[in-house]
Amino acid sequence: DNRHPITFIGLGPMGQAMVRTYLRNGNPITVWNRTASRADALVAEGAIRAATVRDALAATELVLLSLTDYQAMYDILGDAGEALSGRVVVNLSSDTPQRTREAADWLAARGAVLITGGVMAPAELVGKDGAYVFYSGPQEAMETHRPTLELIGRADYLGEDHALAQLFYQAQLDIFLTSLSAYMHATALVKSAGVSAQKFLPYAVDNFDTMSSFIVDAAREIDEGDYPGELANARMMGATADHIVGASGDAGIDLALPAAVKEHYDRAIAAGRGTQGWPSLFETIRKPA
Ligand code: NDP
Repeated sequence: DNRHPITFIGLGPMGQAMVRTYLRNGNPITVWNRTASRADALVAEGAIRAATVRDALAATELVLLSLTDYQAMYDILGDAGEALSGRVVVNLSSDTPQRTREAADWLAARGAVLITGGVMAPAELVGKDGAYVFYSGPQEAMETHRPTLELIGRADYLGEDHALAQLFYQAQLDIFLTSLSAYMHATALVKSAGVSAQKFLPYAVDNFDTMSSFIVDAAREIDEGDYPGELANARMMGATADHIVGASGDAGIDLALPAAVKEHYDRAIAAGRGTQGWPSLFETIRKPA
């Protein structure tokens, strides 16, 4: 049964999308938000408004939070006292892994269990195909509430360590944000010669589409700690990294990103890894100078 009652705190774009998903499914849902007016439309659609945080917590065992960061959780729940006792708090807010571990201890001291979540979908995809959420924390609580949590997206449970969901979330956004910056930098490079972004687009798309084949081998080599470099060694790739810095300088565009990449190769080569495969950069990234 996935129609358990829920309390939902935090009605930003993400929280609103999640509450609507539960309303559509028929879950009784109690909502609270610091700015009360943000609940108005949801109440009109069937959500129950809690007048206070304590009322919100009293309504159900399962409490979902979707807030800007973990500080917002302390600001909201700090005065809740015994109302937290016996609650399963699923915090879907972004923050550092260490902050999520501290939050687990803070809630445990108040008799509540924390499940951390990292939402891998924009608000408009919540509850739809392709949306998924990383979770970590106590497995028993996770399995109890899995059917309810699956409604907002596929639930990928990573383990008991509360930091894991946040680590995976940040790791995914690390790839995402860095790749988007790389795309924009590459586009600035071609645009410097008067070429439109549209003209370069199919090549960039092809690059993104084939990128995953490179990391399959890299992941195995990283885990084995062995970097055979027959096809693309660090010295060859480093020379290319050098050329990208040169091309960017000639074009008069930002140098920070290619300079950072070049620095990885420079350090790998200085450490004697020039004839190893490019994935050996992992060793220099893992342990900065
Ligand atoms: P918002 O930052 O817009 O959500 C803000 C919510 O947090 C509001 O309900 C706001 O209340 C509340 N809030 C913030 N600070 C406080 C505080 N000090 N005390 C009380 N309430 C506070 O974010 P989103 O809804 O977009 O996202 C929520 C979480 O989901 C974030 O951690 C975000 O990183 C994550 N996420 C968002 C995605 C998206 O596409 N939007 C995608 C994936 C993850 P009030 O209304 O009163 O300001």
